[in-house]
Amino acid sequence: MELPDIPYSVSHRNVRYPRLEFRTGKLLLVLPLGRKPGPILDKHKRWIRKKMSFVEECLKHGSDKRLVERTENEFRNLTESLIGKALTETGGRLNHVYFRMMKTKWASLSSRRNLTINRLMNHLPEHLLNYVIFHEVAHLRDKRHNDRFWKKVSQKFNNYQELEKDLFVYWFKVGGGLE
Ligand SMILES: [Zn+2]
Repeated sequence: MELPDIPYSVSHRNVRYPRLEFRTGKLLLVLPLGRKPGPILDKHKRWIRKKMSFVEECLKHGSDKRLVERTENEFRNLTESLIGKALTETGGRLNHVYFRMMKTKWASLSSRRNLTINRLMNHLPEHLLNYVIFHEVAHLRDKRHNDRFWKKVSQKFNNYQELEKDLFVYWFKVGGGLE
């Protein structure tokens, strides 16, 4: 099995099944202890290639994007005011807002109406920060990405597909710096 053009790293862990991750824009194979990478790479090579070209595309677009730096206070104040606006606009209600480092997503909403903001969002320009927040707050009404959800989002952000793409670009930029 050959994938000479695709760099990857392997992490052997106490897991039952092998998995592939692209969290930071680089391919990581998480393998059960003692398992060799060859078969899983071989089995998923088409998926890997597709994913790699998506990541490359993102990184190419990312070269002209700058990571934003705010102080902790600026970040929290801005985030909280955007959350307040989004709640007013959608008529939603949250219990708590938490700020944490997360490895897999920009933000998440729990079934208990708690919103967790990834601290890495500090690196996003304001319009993307605003989009992520509105997106999550819109999930208060529709948990899933159904038609009604996207309709609501697109009423405010008719370019949301472009914004989603930009978020990937920033994700890989930010994630790349984590390793
Ligand atoms: Zn969502």
